[in-house]
Amino acid sequence: MRKLTVLAVVVAIAISAACTKPAGTLEAAEDTLGAATVKSIEYSGTGKWFQFGQAPNPTLPWPPFDVSSFKAAINYEVPSARIEMVRKQTLEAPRVRPAPAEARPIQVVSGTYAWNLAAPAGAAPGAAPVANAQPAAVEERTMEIWVTPHGFLKAARANAATSEAASGGSTVSFTAGGKKYVGTINAQNQVDKVQTWMDTPVLGDTLVETVYSDYKDFGGVTFPAHIVRTQGGHPVLDITVSEVKLNPAVDLPVPDQVKNFTPPAVQVNVQKLADGVYQMTGANAHTVAIDQSDHIVVVEGPANEARSLAVIAKIKETIPNKPIRYVINSHVHFDHSGGLRTYVDEGATVVTHQMNQPYFEQAWAAPRTLNPDRLAQSKKAAKFETVTDKHVLADSKRNIEIYSIAGSGHNDAFLMIYLPKEKILIEGDAFTPGAADAPPPAVPNPYTVNLYENIQRLKLDVRQIAAIHGPRVATMADLRAAIGVKADTN
Ligand SMILES: [Zn+2]
Repeated sequence: MRKLTVLAVVVAIAISAACTKPAGTLEAAEDTLGAATVKSIEYSGTGKWFQFGQAPNPTLPWPPFDVSSFKAAINYEVPSARIEMVRKQTLEAPRVRPAPAEARPIQVVSGTYAWNLAAPAGAAPGAAPVANAQPAAVEERTMEIWVTPHGFLKAARANAATSEAASGGSTVSFTAGGKKYVGTINAQNQVDKVQTWMDTPVLGDTLVETVYSDYKDFGGVTFPAHIVRTQGGHPVLDITVSEVKLNPAVDLPVPDQVKNFTPPAVQVNVQKLADGVYQMTGANAHTVAIDQSDHIVVVEGPANEARSLAVIAKIKETIPNKPIRYVINSHVHFDHSGGLRTYVDEGATVVTHQMNQPYFEQAWAAPRTLNPDRLAQSKKAAKFETVTDKHVLADSKRNIEIYSIAGSGHNDAFLMIYLPKEKILIEGDAFTPGAADAPPPAVPNPYTVNLYENIQRLKLDVRQIAAIHGPRVATMADLRAAIGVKADTN
Protein backbone atom coordinates (compact mmCIF):
# COMPACT_ATOMS: atom_id res chain seq x y z
CA MET A 1 0.00 0.00 0.00
CA ARG A 2 2.77 2.42 1.03
CA LYS A 3 4.72 1.56 -2.15
CA LEU A 4 1.64 2.31 -4.20
CA THR A 5 1.19 5.70 -2.48
CA VAL A 6 4.81 6.65 -3.09
CA LEU A 7 4.46 5.61 -6.72
CA ALA A 8 1.28 7.69 -7.07
CA VAL A 9 3.04 10.77 -5.64
CA VAL A 10 6.03 10.29 -7.95
CA VAL A 11 3.72 9.95 -10.95
CA ALA A 12 1.73 13.02 -9.87
CA ILE A 13 4.92 15.10 -9.58
CA ALA A 14 6.11 13.87 -12.97
CA ILE A 15 2.78 14.78 -14.60
CA SER A 16 2.70 18.20 -12.98
CA ALA A 17 6.29 18.92 -14.07
CA ALA A 18 5.41 17.98 -17.62
CA CYS A 19 2.36 20.23 -17.72
CA THR A 20 3.29 23.37 -15.76
CA LYS A 21 6.76 24.57 -14.97
CA PRO A 22 7.47 25.85 -11.47
CA ALA A 23 6.60 29.53 -11.24
CA GLY A 24 9.40 32.07 -11.37
CA THR A 25 11.84 29.91 -13.33
CA LEU A 26 13.53 30.56 -16.66
CA GLU A 27 11.38 27.81 -18.23
CA ALA A 28 8.15 29.32 -16.90
CA ALA A 29 9.14 32.79 -18.14
CA GLU A 30 9.90 31.34 -21.59
CA ASP A 31 6.35 29.93 -21.65
CA THR A 32 4.64 33.03 -20.29
CA LEU A 33 6.44 35.46 -22.61
CA GLY A 34 6.31 33.06 -25.59
CA ALA A 35 10.08 33.31 -26.06
CA ALA A 36 10.27 30.48 -28.58
CA THR A 37 7.78 32.14 -30.95
CA VAL A 38 9.34 35.61 -30.86
CA LYS A 39 11.81 35.97 -33.74
CA SER A 40 11.64 39.75 -33.93
CA ILE A 41 9.85 42.52 -32.09
CA GLU A 42 9.07 46.16 -32.52
CA TYR A 43 8.00 48.38 -29.65
CA SER A 44 7.27 52.06 -29.54
CA GLY A 45 6.30 54.71 -27.07
CA THR A 46 7.29 58.02 -25.49
CA GLY A 47 9.16 59.16 -22.39
CA LYS A 48 12.57 60.48 -21.43
CA TRP A 49 16.16 59.97 -22.47
CA PHE A 50 19.03 61.24 -20.33
CA GLN A 51 22.51 62.27 -21.47
CA PHE A 52 25.02 60.00 -19.70
CA GLY A 53 28.04 61.79 -18.27
CA GLN A 54 26.66 65.32 -18.75
CA ALA A 55 25.14 66.14 -15.35
CA PRO A 56 24.96 69.89 -14.58
CA ASN A 57 27.02 69.20 -11.47
CA PRO A 58 28.48 66.04 -9.97
CA THR A 59 25.70 65.62 -7.39
CA LEU A 60 22.86 65.69 -9.96
CA PRO A 61 21.46 62.99 -12.28
CA TRP A 62 22.06 62.95 -16.05
CA PRO A 63 20.06 65.75 -17.73
CA PRO A 64 16.67 64.77 -19.19
CA PHE A 65 15.40 65.05 -22.75
CA ASP A 66 11.73 64.71 -23.73
CA VAL A 67 11.27 61.80 -26.14
CA SER A 68 8.20 62.44 -28.29
CA SER A 69 8.75 59.24 -30.27
CA PHE A 70 10.75 56.09 -29.50
CA LYS A 71 10.79 53.04 -31.73
CA ALA A 72 12.93 49.93 -31.34
CA ALA A 73 12.96 47.14 -33.96
CA ILE A 74 14.92 44.03 -33.02
CA ASN A 75 15.70 40.91 -35.01
CA TYR A 76 16.89 38.29 -32.49
CA GLU A 77 18.02 35.86 -35.19
CA VAL A 78 20.70 38.01 -36.91
CA PRO A 79 21.01 39.66 -34.27
CA SER A 80 20.31 43.24 -35.29
CA ALA A 81 18.44 46.28 -34.00
CA ARG A 82 17.41 49.76 -35.00
CA ILE A 83 16.48 52.38 -32.41
CA GLU A 84 14.97 55.63 -33.50
CA MET A 85 14.10 58.57 -31.30
CA VAL A 86 12.85 62.11 -31.57
CA ARG A 87 14.12 64.06 -28.57
CA LYS A 88 14.65 67.54 -27.25
CA GLN A 89 16.38 68.67 -24.06
CA THR A 90 13.99 69.33 -21.17
CA LEU A 91 14.35 72.86 -19.82
CA GLU A 92 14.47 72.82 -16.03
CA ALA A 93 14.11 76.35 -14.66
CA PRO A 94 15.95 78.21 -13.23
CA ARG A 95 18.90 76.66 -15.13
CA VAL A 96 19.43 78.71 -18.30
CA ARG A 97 20.28 76.59 -21.34
CA PRO A 98 20.29 77.26 -25.08
CA ALA A 99 16.89 76.79 -26.76
CA PRO A 100 16.68 73.01 -27.25
CA ALA A 101 17.04 71.71 -30.76
CA GLU A 102 15.12 68.60 -31.81
CA ALA A 103 17.36 65.64 -32.64
CA ARG A 104 16.28 62.51 -34.51
CA PRO A 105 19.02 59.95 -33.92
CA ILE A 106 18.75 56.56 -35.64
CA GLN A 107 21.14 53.94 -34.24
CA VAL A 108 21.63 50.56 -35.86
CA VAL A 109 23.61 47.42 -35.03
CA SER A 110 23.84 44.25 -37.09
CA GLY A 111 26.23 41.48 -36.07
CA THR A 112 29.64 43.10 -35.62
CA TYR A 113 28.71 46.39 -37.33
CA ALA A 114 27.11 49.51 -35.89
CA TRP A 115 26.17 52.72 -37.62
CA ASN A 116 24.10 55.88 -37.25
CA LEU A 117 21.75 57.19 -39.88
CA ALA A 118 21.53 60.95 -40.29
CA ALA A 119 20.60 63.42 -42.97
CA PRO A 120 23.78 64.83 -44.54
CA ALA A 121 24.80 68.24 -43.18
CA GLY A 122 22.93 71.04 -44.94
CA ALA A 123 20.62 68.58 -46.75
CA ALA A 124 17.07 69.51 -47.68
CA PRO A 125 14.36 68.10 -45.39
CA GLY A 126 13.46 64.57 -46.39
CA ALA A 127 16.89 63.86 -47.92
CA ALA A 128 17.97 60.21 -47.74
CA PRO A 129 19.95 59.56 -44.55
CA VAL A 130 23.63 58.67 -44.74
CA ALA A 131 25.20 55.84 -42.71
CA ASN A 132 28.12 56.72 -40.41
CA ALA A 133 30.05 53.73 -39.05
CA GLN A 134 30.19 53.57 -35.22
CA PRO A 135 32.40 50.56 -34.45
CA ALA A 136 32.79 51.63 -30.81
CA ALA A 137 29.01 51.32 -30.32
CA VAL A 138 28.73 47.61 -31.23
CA GLU A 139 29.18 46.42 -27.63
CA GLU A 140 26.52 48.68 -26.11
CA ARG A 141 23.96 48.19 -28.90
CA THR A 142 24.38 44.39 -28.81
CA MET A 143 23.89 44.54 -25.05
CA GLU A 144 20.65 46.44 -25.64
CA ILE A 145 19.33 43.47 -27.67
CA TRP A 146 20.08 40.88 -24.96
CA VAL A 147 18.68 42.91 -22.07
CA THR A 148 15.18 43.08 -23.63
CA PRO A 149 12.82 40.56 -21.94
CA HIS A 150 12.73 38.14 -24.89
CA GLY A 151 16.38 38.74 -25.74
CA PHE A 152 17.36 37.91 -22.17
CA LEU A 153 15.44 34.61 -22.20
CA LYS A 154 16.88 33.63 -25.59
CA ALA A 155 20.44 34.50 -24.58
CA ALA A 156 20.02 32.71 -21.24
CA ARG A 157 18.91 29.56 -23.07
CA ALA A 158 21.71 29.81 -25.67
CA ASN A 159 24.45 30.43 -23.08
CA ALA A 160 23.76 27.72 -20.49
CA ALA A 161 22.45 30.12 -17.84
CA THR A 162 22.50 29.16 -14.18
CA SER A 163 19.49 29.84 -11.95
CA GLU A 164 19.05 30.40 -8.24
CA ALA A 165 15.76 30.71 -6.39
CA ALA A 166 15.13 34.26 -5.16
CA SER A 167 12.04 35.81 -3.53
CA GLY A 168 9.32 33.82 -5.27
CA GLY A 169 11.21 33.79 -8.56
CA SER A 170 14.77 33.29 -9.63
CA THR A 171 18.01 35.00 -10.50
CA VAL A 172 19.34 33.89 -13.87
CA SER A 173 22.97 34.52 -14.86
CA PHE A 174 25.03 33.86 -17.96
CA THR A 175 27.93 35.23 -19.99
CA ALA A 176 27.47 36.11 -23.66
CA GLY A 177 30.05 37.72 -25.91
CA GLY A 178 32.37 38.03 -22.90
CA LYS A 179 29.74 40.06 -21.05
CA LYS A 180 27.98 39.01 -17.85
CA TYR A 181 24.19 39.29 -17.60
CA VAL A 182 22.14 38.81 -14.43
CA GLY A 183 18.36 38.93 -14.60
CA THR A 184 15.54 38.39 -12.16
CA ILE A 185 12.35 36.53 -13.02
CA ASN A 186 9.42 37.23 -10.72
CA ALA A 187 6.65 34.95 -9.43
CA GLN A 188 4.49 36.01 -12.40
CA ASN A 189 7.15 34.54 -14.75
CA GLN A 190 8.13 37.98 -16.03
CA VAL A 191 11.65 39.27 -16.54
CA ASP A 192 11.61 42.23 -14.18
CA LYS A 193 15.24 43.32 -14.12
CA VAL A 194 18.39 42.74 -16.17
CA GLN A 195 21.83 43.89 -15.11
CA THR A 196 25.03 44.01 -17.12
CA TRP A 197 28.25 45.99 -16.95
CA MET A 198 30.23 47.99 -19.47
CA ASP A 199 33.51 49.87 -19.24
CA THR A 200 33.30 53.65 -19.27
CA PRO A 201 36.45 55.77 -18.87
CA VAL A 202 35.33 57.79 -15.82
CA LEU A 203 33.27 55.18 -13.94
CA GLY A 204 35.15 51.95 -14.76
CA ASP A 205 32.89 48.86 -14.57
CA THR A 206 29.57 50.64 -15.01
CA LEU A 207 26.31 48.94 -14.03
CA VAL A 208 23.61 49.11 -16.70
CA GLU A 209 20.31 48.04 -15.16
CA THR A 210 17.00 47.79 -17.03
CA VAL A 211 13.78 47.40 -15.04
CA TYR A 212 10.58 46.15 -16.72
CA SER A 213 7.13 46.62 -15.20
CA ASP A 214 3.41 46.78 -16.05
CA TYR A 215 3.50 43.70 -18.31
CA LYS A 216 0.47 43.56 -20.62
CA ASP A 217 -0.83 41.61 -23.53
CA PHE A 218 -0.11 43.74 -26.60
CA GLY A 219 -2.25 41.92 -29.17
CA GLY A 220 -0.74 38.48 -28.70
CA VAL A 221 2.63 39.25 -27.12
CA THR A 222 3.29 39.84 -23.44
CA PHE A 223 5.56 42.84 -23.03
CA PRO A 224 6.30 45.45 -20.32
CA ALA A 225 4.48 48.77 -20.70
CA HIS A 226 7.21 50.54 -18.71
CA ILE A 227 10.99 50.34 -19.28
CA VAL A 228 13.50 52.21 -17.08
CA ARG A 229 17.24 51.90 -17.65
CA THR A 230 19.88 53.35 -15.33
CA GLN A 231 23.58 53.62 -16.09
CA GLY A 232 26.13 54.72 -13.50
CA GLY A 233 23.37 55.10 -10.89
CA HIS A 234 21.06 57.49 -12.75
CA PRO A 235 18.35 56.96 -15.40
CA VAL A 236 19.39 57.01 -19.06
CA LEU A 237 16.01 55.91 -20.47
CA ASP A 238 12.41 55.89 -19.21
CA ILE A 239 9.90 54.76 -21.84
CA THR A 240 6.17 54.10 -21.60
CA VAL A 241 5.40 51.54 -24.31
CA SER A 242 2.18 52.08 -26.25
CA GLU A 243 2.48 49.56 -29.09
CA VAL A 244 4.25 46.22 -29.66
CA LYS A 245 4.40 44.22 -32.90
CA LEU A 246 5.22 40.53 -32.82
CA ASN A 247 7.53 39.16 -35.52
CA PRO A 248 7.63 42.17 -37.86
CA ALA A 249 10.10 42.07 -40.78
CA VAL A 250 13.31 43.65 -39.44
CA ASP A 251 15.84 43.66 -42.26
CA LEU A 252 18.91 45.80 -41.62
CA PRO A 253 21.53 45.17 -44.33
CA VAL A 254 24.98 46.55 -43.49
CA PRO A 255 25.78 49.45 -45.87
CA ASP A 256 28.99 49.06 -47.89
CA GLN A 257 30.56 52.19 -46.39
CA VAL A 258 30.05 50.67 -42.93
CA LYS A 259 31.53 47.30 -43.98
CA ASN A 260 34.53 49.02 -45.56
CA PHE A 261 35.10 51.60 -42.83
CA THR A 262 38.59 51.79 -41.34
CA PRO A 263 38.88 53.94 -38.20
CA PRO A 264 41.32 56.82 -38.78
CA ALA A 265 44.65 56.61 -36.97
CA VAL A 266 44.88 58.57 -33.70
CA GLN A 267 46.14 62.01 -34.59
CA VAL A 268 47.62 64.75 -32.39
CA ASN A 269 48.45 68.08 -34.03
CA VAL A 270 50.44 70.77 -32.25
CA GLN A 271 49.47 74.40 -32.58
CA LYS A 272 51.75 76.92 -30.87
CA LEU A 273 49.66 79.64 -29.17
CA ALA A 274 52.67 81.48 -27.66
CA ASP A 275 56.21 80.61 -26.55
CA GLY A 276 55.80 77.59 -24.28
CA VAL A 277 52.02 77.27 -24.81
CA TYR A 278 50.80 74.56 -27.18
CA GLN A 279 47.35 73.41 -28.14
CA MET A 280 47.11 69.70 -28.95
CA THR A 281 44.26 69.13 -31.42
CA GLY A 282 43.15 66.33 -33.74
CA ALA A 283 40.12 64.94 -31.90
CA ASN A 284 36.76 66.15 -30.60
CA ALA A 285 38.29 67.88 -27.56
CA HIS A 286 41.67 69.61 -27.34
CA THR A 287 44.34 69.79 -24.63
CA VAL A 288 46.74 72.66 -23.88
CA ALA A 289 50.29 71.99 -22.64
CA ILE A 290 52.19 74.76 -20.83
CA ASP A 291 55.97 74.63 -20.45
CA GLN A 292 56.90 75.87 -16.94
CA SER A 293 60.39 76.22 -15.40
CA ASP A 294 60.87 72.61 -14.39
CA HIS A 295 57.55 70.94 -15.20
CA ILE A 296 54.56 70.88 -17.55
CA VAL A 297 50.99 71.94 -16.78
CA VAL A 298 48.30 70.32 -18.90
CA VAL A 299 44.82 71.78 -19.34
CA GLU A 300 42.11 69.15 -19.89
CA GLY A 301 42.32 65.35 -20.08
CA PRO A 302 39.43 64.57 -22.44
CA ALA A 303 37.94 61.39 -23.89
CA ASN A 304 39.76 58.28 -22.68
CA GLU A 305 43.13 56.68 -22.03
CA ALA A 306 43.90 56.07 -25.71
CA ARG A 307 43.59 59.82 -26.36
CA SER A 308 45.63 60.73 -23.28
CA LEU A 309 48.47 58.36 -24.23
CA ALA A 310 48.68 59.87 -27.71
CA VAL A 311 48.55 63.44 -26.36
CA ILE A 312 51.11 62.73 -23.62
CA ALA A 313 53.51 61.26 -26.19
CA LYS A 314 53.15 64.42 -28.30
CA ILE A 315 53.59 66.68 -25.25
CA LYS A 316 56.83 64.89 -24.30
CA GLU A 317 58.08 65.27 -27.85
CA THR A 318 57.18 68.99 -27.85
CA ILE A 319 58.46 69.74 -24.32
CA PRO A 320 61.17 67.15 -23.64
CA ASN A 321 62.57 66.07 -20.27
CA LYS A 322 60.00 67.63 -17.97
CA PRO A 323 57.36 65.86 -15.89
CA ILE A 324 53.66 66.67 -16.17
CA ARG A 325 53.01 67.99 -12.66
CA TYR A 326 49.42 69.25 -13.00
CA VAL A 327 46.38 68.47 -15.10
CA ILE A 328 43.65 71.10 -14.88
CA ASN A 329 40.08 69.84 -15.45
CA SER A 330 37.44 72.35 -16.62
CA HIS A 331 34.44 70.26 -15.43
CA VAL A 332 33.35 66.68 -14.88
CA HIS A 333 31.47 66.10 -18.17
CA PHE A 334 32.87 62.82 -19.41
CA ASP A 335 34.09 64.14 -22.77
CA HIS A 336 36.30 66.51 -20.71
CA SER A 337 37.40 64.14 -17.94
CA GLY A 338 37.58 60.63 -19.43
CA GLY A 339 41.35 60.87 -19.95
CA LEU A 340 42.31 62.32 -16.55
CA ARG A 341 43.29 59.02 -14.94
CA THR A 342 46.16 58.57 -17.37
CA TYR A 343 47.64 61.88 -16.15
CA VAL A 344 47.20 60.76 -12.53
CA ASP A 345 49.18 57.63 -13.43
CA GLU A 346 51.84 59.96 -14.91
CA GLY A 347 52.13 61.56 -11.47
CA ALA A 348 50.12 64.72 -12.15
CA THR A 349 47.98 66.44 -9.50
CA VAL A 350 44.40 67.06 -10.64
CA VAL A 351 43.31 70.69 -10.34
CA THR A 352 39.52 70.94 -10.44
CA HIS A 353 36.58 72.71 -8.84
CA GLN A 354 36.19 71.79 -5.18
CA MET A 355 32.80 70.18 -5.85
CA ASN A 356 34.38 67.68 -8.27
CA GLN A 357 37.02 66.11 -6.00
CA PRO A 358 34.66 63.80 -4.03
CA TYR A 359 32.99 62.77 -7.28
CA PHE A 360 36.25 61.75 -8.95
CA GLU A 361 37.46 60.04 -5.78
CA GLN A 362 34.31 57.92 -5.58
CA ALA A 363 34.14 57.19 -9.33
CA TRP A 364 37.81 56.24 -9.51
CA ALA A 365 37.50 53.84 -6.58
CA ALA A 366 35.07 51.63 -8.56
CA PRO A 367 36.30 48.25 -9.85
CA ARG A 368 37.93 48.22 -13.31
CA THR A 369 37.93 44.58 -14.24
CA LEU A 370 36.47 44.97 -17.76
CA ASN A 371 39.19 47.23 -19.11
CA PRO A 372 41.88 47.91 -16.50
CA ASP A 373 43.63 51.17 -17.37
CA ARG A 374 47.15 52.19 -16.32
CA LEU A 375 45.97 53.68 -13.03
CA ALA A 376 44.05 50.51 -12.20
CA GLN A 377 47.32 48.63 -12.58
CA SER A 378 49.64 51.12 -10.82
CA LYS A 379 47.06 51.82 -8.06
CA LYS A 380 48.58 55.28 -7.51
CA ALA A 381 46.51 57.55 -5.27
CA ALA A 382 45.05 60.59 -7.02
CA LYS A 383 46.22 63.96 -5.66
CA PHE A 384 43.97 67.01 -5.92
CA GLU A 385 44.24 70.77 -5.66
CA THR A 386 40.80 72.34 -5.67
CA VAL A 387 39.41 75.68 -6.75
CA THR A 388 36.41 77.61 -5.45
CA ASP A 389 36.71 81.13 -6.92
CA LYS A 390 40.36 81.52 -7.91
CA HIS A 391 43.54 79.50 -7.73
CA VAL A 392 47.01 80.35 -9.07
CA LEU A 393 49.70 77.90 -10.15
CA ALA A 394 52.69 80.19 -9.66
CA ASP A 395 55.95 79.72 -11.54
CA SER A 396 58.94 81.82 -12.53
CA LYS A 397 58.02 81.39 -16.22
CA ARG A 398 54.39 82.44 -15.88
CA ASN A 399 51.50 82.28 -13.47
CA ILE A 400 48.49 80.24 -14.45
CA GLU A 401 45.24 81.68 -13.09
CA ILE A 402 42.25 79.40 -12.69
CA TYR A 403 38.79 80.89 -12.17
CA SER A 404 35.34 79.53 -11.50
CA ILE A 405 32.91 80.41 -14.30
CA ALA A 406 30.18 81.68 -11.98
CA GLY A 407 26.49 81.29 -12.76
CA SER A 408 26.79 79.18 -15.91
CA GLY A 409 23.77 77.10 -16.94
CA HIS A 410 26.19 74.56 -18.40
CA ASN A 411 27.79 73.45 -15.16
CA ASP A 412 27.94 74.53 -11.50
CA ALA A 413 31.56 73.37 -10.97
CA PHE A 414 33.09 74.92 -14.03
CA LEU A 415 36.58 76.39 -14.48
CA MET A 416 38.39 78.53 -17.03
CA ILE A 417 42.12 79.10 -17.23
CA TYR A 418 43.83 82.42 -17.90
CA LEU A 419 47.48 83.11 -18.75
CA PRO A 420 48.00 86.82 -17.89
CA LYS A 421 51.43 87.00 -19.56
CA GLU A 422 50.19 85.71 -22.91
CA LYS A 423 46.57 86.95 -22.46
CA ILE A 424 45.26 83.51 -23.40
CA LEU A 425 41.94 82.18 -22.08
CA ILE A 426 41.31 78.42 -22.13
CA GLU A 427 37.70 77.28 -21.71
CA GLY A 428 35.46 74.47 -22.83
CA ASP A 429 31.70 74.43 -23.57
CA ALA A 430 31.10 78.07 -22.59
CA PHE A 431 32.11 79.28 -26.06
CA THR A 432 32.78 76.97 -29.00
CA PRO A 433 33.86 79.03 -32.00
CA GLY A 434 32.43 78.03 -35.37
CA ALA A 435 34.31 78.01 -38.66
CA ALA A 436 35.95 81.38 -39.44
CA ASP A 437 33.39 82.19 -42.16
CA ALA A 438 30.32 80.91 -40.28
CA PRO A 439 27.67 83.53 -39.45
CA PRO A 440 27.10 84.21 -35.72
CA PRO A 441 24.22 82.28 -34.16
CA ALA A 442 20.79 83.90 -34.61
CA VAL A 443 20.18 83.65 -30.86
CA PRO A 444 23.18 84.14 -28.52
CA ASN A 445 24.15 81.03 -26.56
CA PRO A 446 23.50 81.84 -22.86
CA TYR A 447 26.67 79.93 -21.85
CA THR A 448 28.69 82.30 -24.07
CA VAL A 449 26.90 85.37 -22.71
CA ASN A 450 27.73 84.13 -19.20
CA LEU A 451 31.40 83.57 -20.14
CA TYR A 452 31.59 87.14 -21.45
CA GLU A 453 30.09 88.44 -18.18
CA ASN A 454 32.68 86.47 -16.20
CA ILE A 455 35.54 87.86 -18.31
CA GLN A 456 34.16 91.40 -17.72
CA ARG A 457 33.67 90.80 -13.99
CA LEU A 458 37.24 89.54 -13.57
CA LYS A 459 38.61 92.25 -15.90
CA LEU A 460 40.63 89.73 -17.89
CA ASP A 461 42.47 91.13 -20.89
CA VAL A 462 42.00 88.30 -23.40
CA ARG A 463 43.72 88.18 -26.80
CA GLN A 464 43.28 84.50 -27.70
CA ILE A 465 40.56 82.06 -26.68
CA ALA A 466 41.78 78.47 -26.89
CA ALA A 467 38.46 76.63 -26.76
CA ILE A 468 38.53 72.95 -25.83
CA HIS A 469 36.10 72.22 -28.70
CA GLY A 470 35.95 73.81 -32.13
CA PRO A 471 38.00 74.21 -35.29
CA ARG A 472 40.08 77.28 -34.42
CA VAL A 473 41.55 79.60 -31.81
CA ALA A 474 39.25 82.61 -31.40
CA THR A 475 39.56 86.23 -30.29
CA MET A 476 37.47 88.49 -28.07
CA ALA A 477 36.05 89.97 -31.29
CA ASP A 478 34.78 86.48 -32.20
CA LEU A 479 33.27 86.08 -28.74
CA ARG A 480 31.53 89.47 -28.95
CA ALA A 481 30.26 88.70 -32.44
CA ALA A 482 28.84 85.38 -31.22
CA ILE A 483 26.68 87.16 -28.63
CA GLY A 484 25.96 90.36 -30.58
CA VAL A 485 27.96 92.71 -28.34
CA LYS A 486 29.78 95.68 -29.88
CA ALA A 487 33.43 96.24 -28.93
CA ASP A 488 32.85 99.78 -27.72
CA THR A 489 30.47 98.64 -24.97
CA ASN A 490 33.32 96.71 -23.37
ZN1 LIG B 1 30.32 70.22 -20.72
